[in-house]
Order: sequence, then C-alpha cells, then structure tokens
Amino acid sequence: MIQIQPEVKRVEELRQLLQQASYAYYVLDAPIMEDAVYDQLYRELQQMETQYPELIAPDSPTQRVGERPATQFTSVRHNIPLYSLENAFNVDELRVWEQRWRRQAPTVASVEYVCELKIDGSAIALTYQNGILVRGATRGDGVMGEDITQNVRTIRSIPLRLNLAGLENLEKIEVRGEAFLPLEVFKQINEERQKAGEQLFANPRNAAAGTLRQLDSRIVARRRLDFFAYTLHIPGMDDASISNTQWEALELLQKMGFRVNPNHKLCGSLPEVAEYYKYWDTERLNLPYMTDGVVVKLNLFKLQEQLGFTQKFPRWAVALKYPAEEAPTRVENIAVNVGRTGALTPLAEMRPVQLAGTTVSRATLHNSDRIAQLDIRIGDTVIVRKAGEIIPEVVRVLQELRPSDTEPFVMPTHCPVCGQLVVRESGEAVTRCVNASCAAILKGSIEHWVSRDALDIKGVGEKLVHQLVDKGSVHSVADLYELTKEKLCELERMGEKSAQKLVDAIAQSKNQPWSRVLYGLGIRHVGSVNAQLLTQKYFTVEQLTAAKQSDIEGIYGIGAEIAQSVYQWFRIDANQTLIERLRVAGLQFAAAEETTISDGNQKLAGKTFVVTGTLPTLKRDEAKALIQKAGGKVTDSVSKKTDYLVVGEDAGSKLEKAQALGIIQLNEAQLLEILES
Ligand SMILES: [Zn+2]
Repeated sequence: MIQIQPEVKRVEELRQLLQQASYAYYVLDAPIMEDAVYDQLYRELQQMETQYPELIAPDSPTQRVGERPATQFTSVRHNIPLYSLENAFNVDELRVWEQRWRRQAPTVASVEYVCELKIDGSAIALTYQNGILVRGATRGDGVMGEDITQNVRTIRSIPLRLNLAGLENLEKIEVRGEAFLPLEVFKQINEERQKAGEQLFANPRNAAAGTLRQLDSRIVARRRLDFFAYTLHIPGMDDASISNTQWEALELLQKMGFRVNPNHKLCGSLPEVAEYYKYWDTERLNLPYMTDGVVVKLNLFKLQEQLGFTQKFPRWAVALKYPAEEAPTRVENIAVNVGRTGALTPLAEMRPVQLAGTTVSRATLHNSDRIAQLDIRIGDTVIVRKAGEIIPEVVRVLQELRPSDTEPFVMPTHCPVCGQLVVRESGEAVTRCVNASCAAILKGSIEHWVSRDALDIKGVGEKLVHQLVDKGSVHSVADLYELTKEKLCELERMGEKSAQKLVDAIAQSKNQPWSRVLYGLGIRHVGSVNAQLLTQKYFTVEQLTAAKQSDIEGIYGIGAEIAQSVYQWFRIDANQTLIERLRVAGLQFAAAEETTISDGNQKLAGKTFVVTGTLPTLKRDEAKALIQKAGGKVTDSVSKKTDYLVVGEDAGSKLEKAQALGIIQLNEAQLLEILES
C-alpha cells in the first residue's frame, strides 16, 4: 500500500486553494479570500517547497507572478514588466532582506531608502507619447495586462497631457502607480450596491480592481477612482540624465502633474525605516484611504540596476506589510461555555495563530444559528478575524480543506455544567440552561456581583469564585456575607491575612449605593446605566417591586424589553428571598438620604450642559436624560452660557469652541461622580 505523506497532501491542498483564490480574484472579480490570508497560505506553501524541493511543480502558484487576465479586454504587453514585490512582515525580515542585498553589493557603505505608503488599490501602467496619455493597462500577470485606457481616462488625478517644461524631447514615458478608491467613496458604492441588491465589494482594493475592469467606462467615471504615481520609466534613455534617484523621480512625477502620496520619506538607515513603519502603523488609520504596509526602495537607481531582479521580484525593493487582522487556522475542538444568564456559548478552540500582534487560540461562535450558518466542524480550517478590541471570531470555513470524516456540530441538549435539559425559546437564537442552581450560572452571577461596576469587591476573582462554588461554601451571592475568616482559610493557598482582607472587602461592599446593588443583581438587560435610571425614579426596592411594567417603561431611556425583564424578575419568589437575605446582611436597597432630598432640589439646577463625542458607556441620550433628571439643562451648541461640556471620544468642533471659551470639561466618569455624589 502506498502511503501518502502528510506534507504532500498539505502542499496539494495549499496549491488548490491558492489557485481558486486567484481565479476568483483576477478573473471573476469576486474574491473569496482576504489578501492577508492569501499571503499567509502562499508563504506556508513557499516554506514547504523550500523544505521539500522535490514537491515543487511547474503549476505551483509560487512559480508565476500573477494570473491570466480575463478575456473581455484587449491584452497588451507591458513595455517593462510590472514586478510584484517581495513581502516582509516585520523588521527582522526587513533586516534579512538588507543583509541579502548587501552581500551582493558589499562595497556600498552608506545607504538611502525611500519609504512610501503601500496604498491598498490596484497597480496600473500608463504610457505617454509626446506628453499625451495613449495607454492605460492593468498589471495582469506582470507581463501581459489589459488595455483599460478608456477607464483610466476617467480618473481625474491622472493627467491626460503632461507638463513637460524643459523635458519636451521625452518621446515616450511610462508611469506606474496605484489606482484606488477613497474610503468614503468605497462606502458609498457598497451602500448603493446594497440598495440595488448587488453583491458587496469585500474591500477597497477589490472595488478598485473591479471598477478598473468595468466594460462600461461611464460607470467607472461615476465611481471616482483616484491615483497615486510612484514609478517613472523613460525607455530607451538613460534615466540618470533626468533623475538619479527614486526621490528625484517622485519629485519629477509631481512636476509632470501626477499625484504623489505626500507621506514618503527618505531614510538613512534601517532603524529609521523601522520608525517610519511603526509611526504609520497607527497613523494610517486616520488616512482617507486604505494602506496595508510600507514599500521600501533603495534610492539610488545605479544601485537598483546593479542588484537587478530575481525571477519574480526586484532585489532593491520590499513591501513591509502590517500584521494581518485575519488568519487561517484549524478548529481542534468546539467547547460550550455557560454564562451567568445560562446562555450556552459555543467556543472554537483552535491551533494558536498570530493575529494583529497577539496569539489567538479561542474564538466565539456566538450561538447555534451562527454555527449552522457557517457550518463549522471540528477539524475544519477556518479564517479567524480580530478587529480592534473585539473578541476574535470565526469568519468562514475553508470548505475545500475539510477532512472527509467531519460531522456537523450539534448543540448539546443538556447543560454541560449541571446536566439539566437546556431550553431554546422560539424566536430566540440563544440556548439556555434554566436550572436556577446550575453551578455555571451561580459562578457567573457571583463574578458579576463582585465586578467593578457592581459591588466592586476587590480580591474576589474568577478563581476564588470557582473554588467557593465548587467546595459548596457559596450557593448564592448572599452567602458571600456569611463567609468568615476561618472558613476562607480552609481554601487552598489562603493565608489568614488575605482571608481577613477578603472579609473586610466583602463587608465594605455594604456601603455601595442602591444603583450598584440593583445592577449587581444581574437582571437581564439591566446594565449600570439602566440601573441608575431605575434607581433615580424608584428610590427603594419596595417602590421598584410595586412598579407597574408600563410605569417602568415610561422612564426615558428604558425600553419595553428592559421593563418586561425587570417587572418579571421581581415577580419571582426566589429573587424576593435573595433580596431579603441581602437586606438582612446590610446591603443598600434604598437611595441614600441626601440623594432622595436632592432629587427634590435638583443638584444641577441652573447649570447648562452640552454633550459631545462618543462616551465610553452612556449613549448621548442617556447622558442627557441623567443631566435633565438632576435638573440640568442640555443644549446642542456651545456658547458663553454653557457651564459644562461632557466630552467623549472623537469630539469635534464643540470641544474646540469650548476650549476657546474656557468652559469646564467633564468626562463620563466625572459626570457620573457629580450625579452620584
Ligand atoms: Zn446548567
């Protein structure tokens, strides 16, 4: 029997996948893979082929620069091939690149690099004859492209006639650059496509590529493509007679009438390049177009010429990319987590993968609907995404790589923690354990009770809560208040001193205000803001218990769903028992005396507020409602009459105006402090 080695299978898998992705991208204009993912798979294949050279085949995606153009446009041969650039993914790889070219040019002492932002668009080649644009072509496979002259003419930042003052004898020149869609235009296009029921573009790059290859150039004109030039070729002439360096070439391009990205920089060393790369890693997010890296080129043309090209890349340039936000990995297990509301959340446990600078090995799968929609199975290769602070999530499954023996994932019928039957109410995506004494729910409720925005009991962390529940020392949050130093000392690795500290911290929480207690109870939909809104109308737990659902709903900022949840929670006997126990323990179930009075005399009376920007937890309307409840006035514009400006993130002109007028600024925490004081 012939044994197929795993590496042979993997190489085959990778090739197939990359080819499918290329076809979808270049021929169909309907990408199925993010570029970062493509890069990563491509590199894996490259590495495997380096390790096992006998596996290299002539049809491997690594053996050619690009793919064939689609057939609708006329194919044209580039006078000078458009090479793609070698990628580096960090400064170490950049150093390796430098060492490599230096071995080839050992006599070079000092060096200059030109750093340019890598715009996420589509490379095009422009030909000018006697200063007139005669041809525009896509990159295609680098040797053959497509004639898109009609479309290129619609791009307003591309000059149809060059300004050749002093260079009139230049017969033919070639200019390369990036056609791209500004982010705002990209968004508009997708909005229009959505309204029209058309498929959305995955990203600005694909939108630009798709637009350039539109057969109807009137559509192209409407799409408002833009262009940055970055390469100047003067065939048949000695470049040095006009410009000696890339830096000069960029200046010349600008003089001729091209748009050159203004953020390029001349660097005298690799550390300087690294600094530029680091600076733009965050700063690029403020640009009105997408960038995905930095292009580093040797400045001197003579040195470029000396180094020349490999089969695929110039040796004198490299694309230093920013880390991928998406990456492929394999699902090793699907675990089910039970939260404090009893909700069962499936989690993918994956082979660890580097994503945006962190190692990711778990991703939320949200609920069973989501799993069914994606059809994620144990053993699948999936794409995980991490966007900003959001928990990593699985974006899609690479069905092509699915092993033959997988089975669809089925949500458990019983709670994985307590073993009781779980419930999925009709119309709800969430499956829940409804066993009130389920250990998972209990642990979750206690963790919520002690959390910072609730009773803020320092020292009681997840580990301790698990110990307490598992040992049977605590069956409800009320039991926390019956814990003694002696009892805590029985726990593993618990000294007398820390036990006393915990007892003190728990006792301290009895001073926390009614609003925090209400929030700590963990009623569904009642976040800390809603808890404050509720306690400002209902000063005591008796008042809230007695409130009609319609009255609760009448509070500004409280919706029907919240009102129903609150109303029902207080109807449950077990919850009333809990309140009684906590009250006996000494927790606050009424607003402090002065707050009750001050609501009458309105502590913010006579003060005028303006709220601007995005606040960390409050919606702007909620902040306004809180201010108004305390007697303050809220206006929309800043003037001399404004007393306070409540400022969140991305505050604009209002903040500037307030600063100019010397108005007191408050952040959300300060506002809440004033309201609670
Ligand atoms: Zn359970």
